[in-house]
Amino acid sequence: MAVIEGEAIVLRAVDYGESDLIAHLLLPDVGRITVIAKHARKSQKRFPGSLDLFNHLQVQVSRKRPSGLGFLERATLIGAFLPLRRDAARYALASYLIELMGRMAPEDGLRTDTRRLFGFALSALSALAVEYPDQRMRLFLELRAFEALGLCPELKRCVRCGAEPDAAWVGFHVADGGIICGAHGAEGRAGILPVHLGTLRALDKSLESKIDQLGRLRLSGEALDEAQEILFRFHRFHLGFELKSERFLEECLAAGRLTAAAP
Ligand SMILES: [Zn+2]
Repeated sequence: MAVIEGEAIVLRAVDYGESDLIAHLLLPDVGRITVIAKHARKSQKRFPGSLDLFNHLQVQVSRKRPSGLGFLERATLIGAFLPLRRDAARYALASYLIELMGRMAPEDGLRTDTRRLFGFALSALSALAVEYPDQRMRLFLELRAFEALGLCPELKRCVRCGAEPDAAWVGFHVADGGIICGAHGAEGRAGILPVHLGTLRALDKSLESKIDQLGRLRLSGEALDEAQEILFRFHRFHLGFELKSERFLEECLAAGRLTAAAP
């Protein structure tokens, strides 16, 4: 029986049988694992309030074999990110990012990858507990999530020849996942979106920013529209699915915009 001890973030928890819980956890040295918390719903003493979504925990898990179901032996709360539970927009964006990690994070992945993912998840939840989310924050955090998952679009150089474009408008090749220069693709061809170079530079700059500083970055309305279109198409093409929390997130962000625009 292997024993894993360390930090974890709760990605999902569902009731199982009469008294147990099945939880998906993200661990820095292991990636995503599935554990069963025996008697978690009967005995409040065993895991008191610790298996709620987003919680940052210290856990002890035992597993009979790698990649198998783990048994949660102990879980103590490090942080609960309470502001995320107090309003719908924060909850919605945090749920969206955590669902993305739950679907895409590797099980028993390479340690450098899993540590990067855990670092992203923890920083994003911490940032959302402070920063009120809008479409711009959603965009920046989703891009950072792709980066953490090793799926970041190429925002600086042509994906075919590596040239750095300097024209005001460039093409973004959805399938190839990045900029395409004038010599290697033409606007209007299927799958190539015309975009201002400035929009891609703003996105690229957001990758260099610390996650808790993303709220300070500005983006004009036009650049935001362009960037949203690119990321939406990139997401659909490369991930190929819609996250369950996506519609709820769209509703919350649309409601937030109306509230912000009201006199
Ligand atoms: Zn090129």
